[in-house]
Amino acid sequence: MSVSDNLLKIKQEIEALGVTLIAVSKTKPVTTIQEAYDAGQRVFGENQVQELREKYEALPKDIDWHMIGHLQSNKVKYIAPFIKLIHSVDSLKLLQEINKQALKNERVIDCLLQIYIADEETKFGLAYDEAIELLRSDDFSDLKNIRIVGLMGIATNTDNEKVVKEEFYELKTLFKGIKSSFFRKDDYFKELSMGMSSDYKIAIEQGSTMIRLGSTIFGAR
Ligand SMILES: *Cc1c(COP(=O)(O)O)cnc(C)c1O
Repeated sequence: MSVSDNLLKIKQEIEALGVTLIAVSKTKPVTTIQEAYDAGQRVFGENQVQELREKYEALPKDIDWHMIGHLQSNKVKYIAPFIKLIHSVDSLKLLQEINKQALKNERVIDCLLQIYIADEETKFGLAYDEAIELLRSDDFSDLKNIRIVGLMGIATNTDNEKVVKEEFYELKTLFKGIKSSFFRKDDYFKELSMGMSSDYKIAIEQGSTMIRLGSTIFGAR
């Protein structure tokens, strides 16, 4: 099936659910992204700063670009002028750098805190208590040019649906706790980025508001 057929199929699946589809276009050429754009897709996710920057420059300016991969502080400046949402904030130091670059660009940058939920050593992210400690700190409340709009998590890469479901459930529970403790009056804290090609249906059942799909749309990488 073509990229536009794949997009249409997924959009029909999620249409009534109020879930945002992020088309993960990492490693895919500009022509393929243009194909998705022509089919109406406007939100794309990338995980490498340089690739993201090049694609931003080559493609239409009404695309919303999301950074979904691990971000090094020294590279924030390359995406700060245009990035719509950073999903992968995993330290106060990174958040401080995003704030600094956002200020330079006279904007507020929306971010998600990436929470470590998987049963794997290799994944990035904050532990639950680290996320809470960050939100409680005075250093955090000083940051006026970033906005935390929700949480992101990557489940364990396993066929065991029960494990994946449990991890998403825990993230949703943490989301609710953080919402009521830190963002009760802030309507903008509402996003839960969870679910990839292999597990997005489970993620939606567990309350995801943003799914990040690559191979389901663009084929294998
Ligand atoms: C690559 C990637 C995805 C998309 O993965 P697929 O399995 O191709 O859907 C989603 N989220 C993150 C953080 C990724 O790096």
